[in-house]
Amino acid sequence: MSTEALVIVDFQNDFTPGGALAVPHGDEIAGRVRELAESGRFDLVVATRDWHPADHGSFAERGGPWPPHCVQDTPGAQLHDGAPTDRIDVIVDKGQDPGTDGYSGFEATELEQVLRDRGVDRVTVVGLATDYCVKNTALDALRKGFEVEVDRDGVRGIDVKPGDVEQALDEVRAAGGTVT
Ligand SMILES: [Zn+2]
Repeated sequence: MSTEALVIVDFQNDFTPGGALAVPHGDEIAGRVRELAESGRFDLVVATRDWHPADHGSFAERGGPWPPHCVQDTPGAQLHDGAPTDRIDVIVDKGQDPGTDGYSGFEATELEQVLRDRGVDRVTVVGLATDYCVKNTALDALRKGFEVEVDRDGVRGIDVKPGDVEQALDEVRAAGGTVT
């Protein structure tokens, strides 16, 4: 028997339509994410939040690729209304270091420790966006020795370049993860 965690990546207002860095159709993951969170399959449900200082290095005004988004304690950084907050056991904030991208939920956070403390060996990743924070979180989980699944219905991507999403999923597969 595996001990399984559901990791919901960055299902936040700024990443959903109307937000500062909206992922197309990002709000549409709500039903699938809730279905998984309520499935009884997971021993632990974790939500990550992109949680940037106002001067974060990924913002265009600092030379980064993105408009300002998910600034700590702003409405845009709050979990989306569609997130299954009643089922979330732990919230992990990421991207707080102004000098790093913080795409991965494991980067400079307590996420690995949270999973280890619960004896988790298998992680299902859902959330936003497939080609950035979902991909990097899944790849880091694989590097750390977790079994990893990305649930397609539970993710949406940006596709800055068409094909980015498929390439991201290919990278997860190539690294040993599964995409279902
Ligand atoms: Zn960010």
